[in-house]
Amino acid sequence: MNRRGFLGAAAALGASLSVRAAPLVGHPIPDLLPPSRSRRVVIVGGGWGGLTAARHLRDLAPELDVVLLEKNPEFWSCPLSNKWLANLVETRVLVHDYAAAARAYGYTFIQAEASDIDRDKRRVITARGAIDYDWLVLAVGIRYDFEAWYGDDRRAIDHTLANYPCAFIPGGEPFALKKKLDGFKGGDLVMTLPPMPYRCPPAPYERALMIGRLFQSRRIKGRLILIDPNPTIPGFGRTFAEQYKDRIVHVSQARVKSVDPFNKTISTDFDDLRFDDAILMAPQQAGDLVWKTGLIARDAAGKPTGWADQHPVHLHAREDERVFLIGDLMGAVSPLFGQYPKSGHMANRLGRIAAREIAARARGIAPEKLMPESVCYVFTKADPMEVTRIDSQYRIRGDGLIVQTVKQSYDPNPMDEDLRWARSMYGEFLALKEQ
Ligand SMILES: Cc1cc2nc3c(=O)[nH]c(=O)nc-3n(C[C@H](O)[C@H](O)[C@H](O)COP(=O)(O)OP(=O)(O)OC[C@H]3O[C@@H](n4cnc5c(N)ncnc54)[C@H](O)[C@@H]3O)c2cc1C
Repeated sequence: MNRRGFLGAAAALGASLSVRAAPLVGHPIPDLLPPSRSRRVVIVGGGWGGLTAARHLRDLAPELDVVLLEKNPEFWSCPLSNKWLANLVETRVLVHDYAAAARAYGYTFIQAEASDIDRDKRRVITARGAIDYDWLVLAVGIRYDFEAWYGDDRRAIDHTLANYPCAFIPGGEPFALKKKLDGFKGGDLVMTLPPMPYRCPPAPYERALMIGRLFQSRRIKGRLILIDPNPTIPGFGRTFAEQYKDRIVHVSQARVKSVDPFNKTISTDFDDLRFDDAILMAPQQAGDLVWKTGLIARDAAGKPTGWADQHPVHLHAREDERVFLIGDLMGAVSPLFGQYPKSGHMANRLGRIAAREIAARARGIAPEKLMPESVCYVFTKADPMEVTRIDSQYRIRGDGLIVQTVKQSYDPNPMDEDLRWARSMYGEFLALKEQ
């Protein structure tokens, strides 16, 4: 595991937020790869969606040239990372080698950050050169919407990223957060939750349980204060009250109005609050590149929704059938329930569908209408562990709208189902054998 690689990537994250799109005219950009002898699919983002699309494209359409661009040096798994923060999972379970997956499946991996897309010329722009594509898959995940708190105050944004990481994006943040928790001596640790929709809705509550457990086991005289704009997910409220009465204070349906990260104060609908330390989860949106590419959906009033504008079934951008938009960056797919759950399992299934879509188009065949599904294991108790499994299924009904069915099953005696689930996923898209 190369921890230094991730810490370097964290610094790059801060830097990337300030980069503006380079002008695409006037400066010839060299080619990063020689012209392909076959048609080329470029996938930007080596997370759960992008890696899955790369693997399945190689299986389904070996005649296509597949290139994966990822800015981080190694894969980092957000799933299981809450357990890792509490030392219940080892780092080696979460960090994996991109180059090994690319070798196993036969695609090209390039570590580079895409800074822009020229959709007219079908070119992806990076600092190292440009790559032409026939089809593009954007799987760049999310970004933090700090503008909601700070406007364009770059100093406040950088200070927050450097001092109050929330680790919802792969890279250096999880290591910085772990260091913070390992060194926490006591006092009020505040965790702000983002408003819905955001990545993996149960994750902040699960993290709260893990932090409560850490405080308890280390006898830390401290409180975790959750500032939560959403209604609580059932199960967690009871556990907070029963198991961590003196450790976790859950302030539900409280919206963050403003944050002063220098004076350590947060202003909410209810109150102003001072903190000793914090995990600041800003609102979330589709990743930067979707904004730069101009593929963000707009609401009826013409205001950007913050999320991508993709076809609900075929997953290509509504205004560009050469660009596929998958994973957590996606916007609403149905007026009946809005967005798909932002989960790794869902991103994996969407990656499979995008691969089938592109393989069919490359052969001039009409693509099938395929639906994804999602499975999520959520800890609703930390000591002893109890798990709720959430299954979400989808179908297209007669009028063409996508319908969602959600089933929950409760498991009072979990046997590492989450670990087995994650390993089977890594097996599929990282070519990993049992660890
Ligand atoms: C704490 C936590 C716990 C979670 N637990 C679970 C769970 O138990 N089960 C579950 O199913 N899901 C879970 N999730 C959700 C899951 O991690 C996400 O839904 C999943 O990662 C989404 O996949 P993605 O491919 O859309 O985005 P990501 O996995 O975030 O991948 C995006 C990739 O794109 C790269 N990238 C971004 N911009 C660029 C660029 N311009 N150029 C090059 N590369 C770029 C990023 O570095 C990143 O590697 C959890 C999330 C968190 C934060």
